[in-house]
Amino acid sequence: MTVFWAKLVWLLGVIGWFAIRYPHSRRSKRTPKTHRSDRTRELVLLTISASGMLVMPAIYALTGWPHVADYQFRPALAWLGAVVFASSLWLFYRTHKDLGRNWSVTLEIRDRHTLVTSGVYGHVRHPMYSAFWLWALAQALLLPNWIAGPAGLIGFGTLFFLRVGREEELMIETFGDDYHRYMARTSRIVPRIY
Ligand code: SAH
Repeated sequence: MTVFWAKLVWLLGVIGWFAIRYPHSRRSKRTPKTHRSDRTRELVLLTISASGMLVMPAIYALTGWPHVADYQFRPALAWLGAVVFASSLWLFYRTHKDLGRNWSVTLEIRDRHTLVTSGVYGHVRHPMYSAFWLWALAQALLLPNWIAGPAGLIGFGTLFFLRVGREEELMIETFGDDYHRYMARTSRIVPRIY
């Protein structure tokens, strides 16, 4: 693999991600919500995450900027990145299937929201965030640049750590003991580890 192909794999991964999400975004607009978290905070977090996972790597992939942060390309790392990106897309697809109409891009509770605890949600509580971590890791492995590569881990990491606790509080507020029991038997993003 060459740097050109590694960049192309990254781009194809992002296109695949949009293709998986598109039908869910459309449906999400039509499903009524009963509870909304602080919109401004959510939008700031989404912007930070998108800067690291989309904007910075896209600028690097298209223009090579910032050149000063380039390091030597290692094909084996890029191949590993391709495999990690593929597994991220598979997991992302599964989470959307399992979560169905309960999914929202921000923290929200929908009309007739149900608690999902099966499928990939039987293994971890935040498998969609696991998929995003895998994507960010793939980006770091595919792009040989000290800024554009790790930008996804920093951008998504910011969103994740500032959101996950609040999301669990919202779930407890809505589902009470059912969510407590679910928490007792699952980890957040890596089965049995975290
Ligand atoms: N954190 C989850 C879901 C991300 S989508 C994951 O990583 O897979 C965010 C929305 O999903 C939130 O608005 C929340 O209302 C909803 N949500 C989170 N966990 C859920 C669950 N187990 N069942 C149903 N809805 C859930």
